[in-house]
Amino acid sequence: MLRDRVAVITGSTSGIGLGMARAFASAGCHLIINGFSPAGEAQAIFEEIEHEHPAKVRHDPADLADADQCVRLIEDAEKAFGRVDILINNAGIQYVAPVDQFPVERWNAILALNLSAAFHTTRAVLPGMQARGYGRIVNIASVHGLVASVHKAAYVAAKHGLIGLTKVVALENAGRGITCNAICPGFVLTPMVQKQIDDRAGKTNIPPEEASRYLLHEKQPSGRFVTIEEIAAMALYLCSDGAANLTGTSIPIDGGWTAQ
Ligand code: NAD
Repeated sequence: MLRDRVAVITGSTSGIGLGMARAFASAGCHLIINGFSPAGEAQAIFEEIEHEHPAKVRHDPADLADADQCVRLIEDAEKAFGRVDILINNAGIQYVAPVDQFPVERWNAILALNLSAAFHTTRAVLPGMQARGYGRIVNIASVHGLVASVHKAAYVAAKHGLIGLTKVVALENAGRGITCNAICPGFVLTPMVQKQIDDRAGKTNIPPEEASRYLLHEKQPSGRFVTIEEIAAMALYLCSDGAANLTGTSIPIDGGWTAQ
């Protein structure tokens, strides 16, 4: 479906990003995988993907909390593959605390990675996409780009900002073969959410399975986690020819969370 397209997927050594990397490789894309991982693990991931699919894969460990490294990630991808057709801004982190106790350095780190990094990579990738008249930008936002929850000030602010950025990029590039959309997942069971489950289990002295049920019951009417495959399927659709006139949207995949 996306044979020989070149995709940069940020934060793709784990969780949702890694699932999307596998899905895009199976659709025929060449990939730049980005993110941190223990020594040798990223190598093992991309060797596995290259072994299973006819994809060329590179790992770039750029720290996207740093603006210069965001730009370098795109420049190096263009040098290595000749172009970038698809950019998926996925890397993100979380920290949970009441606003009045929220550490300033955590606020700055979350805004830098969850919002500013998408600005820097998008800014760097657009000139090439505009010159070629083709591009797909998918921002992995969150239900927290649409609604709020307590103790997530930086995350909610960054994800709301990311949806605003998505709309502006879509408008400025409408009619030029370039689309920009956001996906807004509810709870997906990745290391990021497992940490929240473990923290809650620790604080309330209940088993992790019970903390996980409580988390879902509180927010997600479907009563189950969104799967990584469900997110990847939507990202693939947004990058398909069928979605060529779909731009500036924020699509929840949240088991009914934001319908309440
Ligand atoms: P994860 O923790 O499993 O993966 C995060 C990835 O980002 C990893 O590859 C990590 O190495 C990378 N990363 C972290 N800091 C980085 C940095 N400074 N520079 C480059 N890469 C960095 O998380 P996940 O749950 O898969 O989340 C992926 C995205 O989905 C995030 O933007 C998150 O906000 C969003 N999201 C997740 C959920 C969920 O329930 N898991 C829900 C909604 C939205």
